[in-house]
Amino acid sequence: MVKITVTDDVKKLEQAEYVVCNRASLPSIFDDDVFNICCECGQKVRERPYNPVGPKRICTECLPILQVLQDTEATILTTDQQMKEVRDGLAKDDEP
Ligand SMILES: [Zn+2]
Repeated sequence: MVKITVTDDVKKLEQAEYVVCNRASLPSIFDDDVFNICCECGQKVRERPYNPVGPKRICTECLPILQVLQDTEATILTTDQQMKEVRDGLAKDDEP
C-alpha cells in the first residue's frame, strides 16, 4: 500500500518529481486556480496557487494514477492546506 505523507516542508515539496493537476477543461470549485502546461501532453492544466514551483506538472490523463497507487516505492506528498480544501469541498458536497 502506498503511503501518503502530509507535509508543509517546502524543501521536500520542491524536490517532488511531479505536481499532479487536472486539465484546465475540467470544472473547478476554486476561483483562484492558476494554470500551467502538462509536461507530457502539452495540455493546459489547473492547479492551486500554493503548489511548489520546481516540480514538473503532469495531468491526470498522463499520469497512470492507479499504477502509482500500487507502486510501493512511490512517495505521495500533500499539504495541510490541500487536505483542508479537500475536507471543505467534500463537506460542501454533503450539504442538502
Ligand atoms: Zn498530460
